[in-house]
Amino acid sequence: MGACGSWVPALPGVLAWAVAAAVSCGPALAAAGEAAWVVELDSGRLLAVEGAAGADRPGPPGSLLKVFLFLHAADRSELAKGALAVCGASSARKPALDACWYHPGHGTVGFAAGLALSCQQFANGLADRVDPEELRSLWRQLGLQIGAGRGPPARSKAWRAQATGHDSSIRSKPLELLAALAACVNGGYLFRMDRSAPVLVRRLRWRPDAVEAVLAGLGRTAIEGTARGAGLAGCLAKTGTAPALDPYGRVDLRRTQGWAFACTTSGGRRIAVLACAEPGTGADAAVLAGRVLRSQGAVLR
Ligand SMILES: [Zn+2]
Repeated sequence: MGACGSWVPALPGVLAWAVAAAVSCGPALAAAGEAAWVVELDSGRLLAVEGAAGADRPGPPGSLLKVFLFLHAADRSELAKGALAVCGASSARKPALDACWYHPGHGTVGFAAGLALSCQQFANGLADRVDPEELRSLWRQLGLQIGAGRGPPARSKAWRAQATGHDSSIRSKPLELLAALAACVNGGYLFRMDRSAPVLVRRLRWRPDAVEAVLAGLGRTAIEGTARGAGLAGCLAKTGTAPALDPYGRVDLRRTQGWAFACTTSGGRRIAVLACAEPGTGADAAVLAGRVLRSQGAVLR
């Protein structure tokens, strides 16, 4: 558990995780290169840190960013929830932003399936529907690191890449990312997560039907989406795969880093986990997320 390894100094990426794993006490839930953070969803209390004592630098969250895009789009326009996109087959040589990461194609996709499957074609369509400055304002309120100045213009390829988490330009420390994702599912309460004294930073408000639509998508992720087969049935979940970073924070295109967010109820309280696997994919991180939630008493299938 994190308390055992809390003296480990801040070290870059995988190295820090390897050190943390080496000094962790009790049965290790996270292998070298894996990390996970568990919080109480409604209080912001940090319950556990697995194998991650030094892994606190900002990184790109990949498709976890789509949660904010989907929620913002549904909040701003009722039409977004009824949108459809046709995700056709594409060549594996075609950049994933122009087609979809799933080259056989998802077929006709609606809002909930678009989120559960992390369909790039559907997400691109949503990015075209939103005002970039409004979504950037939401990212700032949620504590994400987006850089100064204006972002890419609406409907541009650069904007689609940024809004969908495809270009690594938006970064976040893991606990801050977990707090931002938790706010999307806990009624809008954004906490500074802490073991003993969590702080409520602000309350964000979205239309209830927008939140419901996003929860429906997150609920399908573990059943028929990108976390299918990871043992997270019954959880709200989302996965993401992003380029790994080198020790200087630069994108390393030779390796990927998998992320998974999942929340469920355990012992009468709602808990959420953010899991990371490097090298790995979002699906790998989802398996770790399930393992960590079960260690917290969650009953998952
Ligand atoms: Zn697709």
